Amino acid sequence: MPHESVDDQLSILGARWKDYKSQSGGAFDQFVEFTLALNSLAERLDRLRLPGLVRQCEGLENAALELFGDPDSHPMAPQTVQALDRQLESLMGAVISARRFDNTVEKRAPDEVVERKPSKWIKPRSIWMISSPGTSWASGLAAQLSYFGFQMRAMPWFAELGDEEPPFAVVFVPNDADTSPDERAMDDIRRVRTACPESQFIYLGVPPTLDSMVELMRAGIDVTIRRDEQMAALLSTVLSLVQTREPVRYRVLVVEDSRVAVAQIQRALTAHGIDSTTISSPSGLFDAIETYQPDLILMDMYMPGCNGVEATRALRQLSDYQALPIVYLSSETDAELQVEALRLGGDQFLTKPFNPLLLAATVKTTIERHQEMQRASRHDGLTGLLNHTAAKAELDARLAMLPPNTPVTVAMIDIDHFKSVNDAFGHPVGDQVIRSLAWLLKGWLRSSDIVGRYGGEEFIVAMPGIDIKDAYAMLDGIRAHFSNLPHVHANGSLRVTFSAGIAPYPLVDNGRDLIEIADQALLEAKALGRNRIVEARI
Ligand code: GH3
Ligand code: MG
Ligand code: MG
Ligand code: MG
Repeated sequence: MPHESVDDQLSILGARWKDYKSQSGGAFDQFVEFTLALNSLAERLDRLRLPGLVRQCEGLENAALELFGDPDSHPMAPQTVQALDRQLESLMGAVISARRFDNTVEKRAPDEVVERKPSKWIKPRSIWMISSPGTSWASGLAAQLSYFGFQMRAMPWFAELGDEEPPFAVVFVPNDADTSPDERAMDDIRRVRTACPESQFIYLGVPPTLDSMVELMRAGIDVTIRRDEQMAALLSTVLSLVQTREPVRYRVLVVEDSRVAVAQIQRALTAHGIDSTTISSPSGLFDAIETYQPDLILMDMYMPGCNGVEATRALRQLSDYQALPIVYLSSETDAELQVEALRLGGDQFLTKPFNPLLLAATVKTTIERHQEMQRASRHDGLTGLLNHTAAKAELDARLAMLPPNTPVTVAMIDIDHFKSVNDAFGHPVGDQVIRSLAWLLKGWLRSSDIVGRYGGEEFIVAMPGIDIKDAYAMLDGIRAHFSNLPHVHANGSLRVTFSAGIAPYPLVDNGRDLIEIADQALLEAKALGRNRIVEARI
């Protein structure tokens, strides 16, 4: 299946839908096939990094999921069929026109990872801002974004797009933030979406009704931001999009003795882009986890030797796997036994025979929820950066995996006279300054660099592959930018500076000492008058 072209997938999808429609009754299985085809197209578009099209495809998928019902609810009402007809037609049209425009859809290798050279620090990060000429609010916003290193291009609605490279993001600013976007605006969003299938689309000022948000998403908008949330929300959205999301495939270990069940499970998982491996008895469990490193275990309840609950209890005693998500699969429908299974350390319970979509959805959401919880414990709430402990651990881990003769520069950064910012303008303004520096660092540094919030207004940065000279130049540029960045408060704006100390690996060869000498250099920078970067002396 992975070698089908997008065209093949489109025609399979169309054929499945036709199969479903041509059945006069009892077409439930065809409907399942149709949703599976839809799901594999969504996965494909996601791997090709076409977020707008993925969104549209998922919209249709969700609509189909809601219509799943039970076998008796099919065939569905003619007007429901017509509504799906229209959605499917518009999805297929969007995929085809995205291809026609620049054949991005076929040209891009899936999962392509671009390694940037040190000299090319920054991704192409242009942003188009589409607004009516003379909207002063929009030009203020464009100025702010340019402080964070984005190349801004302002254009009116319905502008000729020319043959420029599609931008990283497109921000749509409507004239009136309080009324629903009109049909013309929707048309223009769809037109730009066709030209820029993979850019992030942000719409500012949507009134908070579900209907208008759904309309916008259907036209190709990825994120809608209320205009009263203003700068802070917009900047954090744009900057969180900068962090490249590597396409990850989840890994599931299936522990199941029935070969029929294994075949069904693996078919369902594969169809939804989830990798899996199988063992047929719990005796090989520890070894399999060690070598396969799954994100989740699907565990049969009844197997010869020991049952799934016993295997889970044993696993939970190993400290490394106390939190590894486990979903039970069983034909058992006894509610008491399910409760017992959950109480003893399972996360979910699915009964056989299972619905393949439900199985895949349960696996994905369980993994995502688990990862989100882990994320919350590693990241700082104010800035979204790695927290103190996680940043230090990440530095040690990176140093341990480093190829020979690779330099790394570590920087400790501290905001100057920060107490006086809090004292003069209040804590919330201080918080905003801290967030701005976090964003500036995230915006200018590569996604492969470590950026952490080390303490209150202190940050740690580690740049693998960058020697101290290049690191100095980069950080000094960021320092200059930061010192020019206006921070808005109730009566105007203020400027703030930072100081930093930098230390080179492998001259100093472990994380703790690197931090220590970078900290000493930071103190020296403070003593020399602040707003400067000092290299550690060894
Ligand atoms: P220096 O140039 O020597 O660094 O002067 P400074 O005033 O920045 O001194 P110091 O680094 O010791 O002060 C840090 C201050 O940062 C103290 C604390 O009130 C404030 N702070 C720490 N965490 C936060 C935070 O999360 N939000 C805000 N608003 N302030 C914080
Ligand atoms: Mg069994
Ligand atoms: Mg400090
Ligand atoms: Mg300070």
